[in-house]
Amino acid sequence: MTDRIAELFTRTLHRHSKDRADNEAFSPPIVNTSIYSLPAVPSGTYQYARWGNPTWTALEDALALLEGAPVVTFPSGMAAVAAVLCGLLKSGDRVLLPSDGYYTTRICADKYLVPMGIAVDTCPTAQVAARDLTGYRLVLVETPSNPGLDLADIAAVAQRAHAAGALLAVDNTTMTALGQRPLELGADLVISSDTKAVNGHSDLLFGHVAARDEAVLAPVRDWRKIVGAIPGSFEAWLVHRGLETLEVRFSRMCDSAQTIAERLAAHARVKAVAYPGLATHPAHALAQRQMLRMGCLIALELASEAAANAFLAACDFLRPATSFGSVHSSAERRARWGDAVPAGFIRLSVGCEPTEMLWGEIERALAASA
Ligand SMILES: *Cc1c(COP(=O)(O)O)cnc(C)c1O
Repeated sequence: MTDRIAELFTRTLHRHSKDRADNEAFSPPIVNTSIYSLPAVPSGTYQYARWGNPTWTALEDALALLEGAPVVTFPSGMAAVAAVLCGLLKSGDRVLLPSDGYYTTRICADKYLVPMGIAVDTCPTAQVAARDLTGYRLVLVETPSNPGLDLADIAAVAQRAHAAGALLAVDNTTMTALGQRPLELGADLVISSDTKAVNGHSDLLFGHVAARDEAVLAPVRDWRKIVGAIPGSFEAWLVHRGLETLEVRFSRMCDSAQTIAERLAAHARVKAVAYPGLATHPAHALAQRQMLRMGCLIALELASEAAANAFLAACDFLRPATSFGSVHSSAERRARWGDAVPAGFIRLSVGCEPTEMLWGEIERALAASA
């Protein structure tokens, strides 16, 4: 992590340290209400709880400091994705989505955008920077892609998108604001599923959208206010709590992932490994330029479906759960969801276990999976 991000994170942790009064609580209150008392002519920040809640505000202020842009929170990552797609696009618009990114984003577009008269195209992540973006209103990029971990050059796509009059949104879920800074590379919007590393404890779903330009963020905010895709105050409070340990968790996860990816790549039982931090990754140079950390996800391929299943069954510290970014490592065979990957392909999410404990168990399970 660069010194700049370390400073930003520290400032986020301590943003109230100077103005906190004697005897005031460190943590924000969990405000459970549907209404607020109003003057005769309604005014003020909080008027009705579908429009705003002080616990959301506490979290949004913290996330905004970290993102370097105003933030709107949502009850899940998909609620954040849908708010960007539905809030910003209208009939006659054209949107470009990753063909190898988060699957439900494509389902959402096919099921709801297409019938509304919005044209939806897809493109592999590794090819989007070379694509002609003429005619698009919105381009959505997810880099590294999931589960293949291919990269897109965010600055190059932003330049092409803007030349074509399109907005660029980056789904930054796998990297978080500590690992990759899409807005600084020219993206207009960042989307995050905070269900993953930001909350980090596998105990809730959450999401957020960040954008520097209020004209870009306003339709996203309006979508939440009008449609009612609003987070619960307890969930917002839990994400606020999780955020305070994001730096230490994500550092451990990325450090361990680098070590484990290197060892997997050298292991006789492993057919292939993709990790942006390996020199063998086809976009390693771009990763070093664009990413501050290399992430917690490793794509590895074992010889067959049977070998992958045997490995997962043998490994005490990897449960086949379909999420990532948690304190607990997890892994799954992605072909079981229909991803276009080999049958022995496993997406491994490296958690916060002490590195050698985790590696020792992975090594033992690989030996047992023959
Ligand atoms: C998980 C995920 C989402 C959806 O988030 P939910 O919180 O599960 O709704 C969107 N994008 C990416 C990249 C994800 O990994």
